Amino acid sequence: MTLATQLLDWYYQSARELPWRADKDAYKIWVSEIMLQQTRVEAVKNYYTRWIERFPTPAVLAEASEQEVLNYWQGLGYYSRARNLLAGVREVCAAYGGRVPDDQAAIQSLPGVGEYTAGAIASIAYNRPAPAIDGNVLRIFSRLFCLTGDITKQATKREVKRLVLTHLPTQYPGDFNQALMDLGALVCIPRRPRCENCPLTNLCEAFMREVQDTLPVRSPKKVPQLIRLAAGLVVKDGSYLVHQRPTTGMLARMWEFPTVELADGEGAVERLQAGLLQEFRQDVHVGKSVFHYIHTFSHRKWDISFYQCEWLAGDKLPTTACWLSSSELTSMPWAGPHHKVALACQNTPNL
Ligand code: SF4
Repeated sequence: MTLATQLLDWYYQSARELPWRADKDAYKIWVSEIMLQQTRVEAVKNYYTRWIERFPTPAVLAEASEQEVLNYWQGLGYYSRARNLLAGVREVCAAYGGRVPDDQAAIQSLPGVGEYTAGAIASIAYNRPAPAIDGNVLRIFSRLFCLTGDITKQATKREVKRLVLTHLPTQYPGDFNQALMDLGALVCIPRRPRCENCPLTNLCEAFMREVQDTLPVRSPKKVPQLIRLAAGLVVKDGSYLVHQRPTTGMLARMWEFPTVELADGEGAVERLQAGLLQEFRQDVHVGKSVFHYIHTFSHRKWDISFYQCEWLAGDKLPTTACWLSSSELTSMPWAGPHHKVALACQNTPNL
């Protein structure tokens, strides 16, 4: 039997039941793939279900405001994905009559859609013979063919793509790609692959040579840069001072409580007090720290403390800032741990 036949036999017996597999709707596959980019399947299920209830079609999503879309994305992180999804869906409505195109190149030209996602949509929804190569597939094929090149390098990725295309069955490309997704999630997992449950042991060179635990080869990841931050919970007449981050860069246009970055050895209280005066024209007395979080992004790690601040006096706010009542706090798309603090402030007024 061929690799594809063995893999498909296994898949048809043990495929995972996932909400986006209920039908082969290109828009739903698109949403699920974007959500799954940085998040585990179990965590995505609830977000996905809620999303499809509210935005069941591209046309409905295209009409929604960015703020509402970001609210529905809240908790999944990497908000540029949600913005790109919204922009992509609007393009689908404007240029393709609301139907996701069935050509891989056209799908890949949509905002935020890379080669992997375009391949997944084209193969699963439209049965196009497109590969969908992500980290799972790179790992599986590195093991199956005992590839010892670094999987972060283009040369290794090209070799994996060549191998996948060699084995991709033209009749069932979508099922083949989904079978690889399941194999990577359930059996050929990153550490200690469960070879005893694998349908491909008789074809796997790494298994036969007993080197599966050493593959794939990958250069070490960079350690995220640690950034110390102090944020102020400034309350005036029951409303909190909040501001929107710049329109470009990390967490663009997300909301946060006024925050300052601390240099090495710099005191949080003095720096926060000065920052509120210089950037927000508000004179405050900085009190005690009430929340502390370590929040890791892909390249950065925030070490952030939130301080109670007593408002003393102030001038007009910059255009990026405003006062929000505690009941309005959770209607905003928040940057990282600011969301948890906004929830706490809403549940405990006068915090
Ligand atoms: S035999 Fe083991 S290493 Fe090889 S593909 Fe299967 S799970 Fe992965």
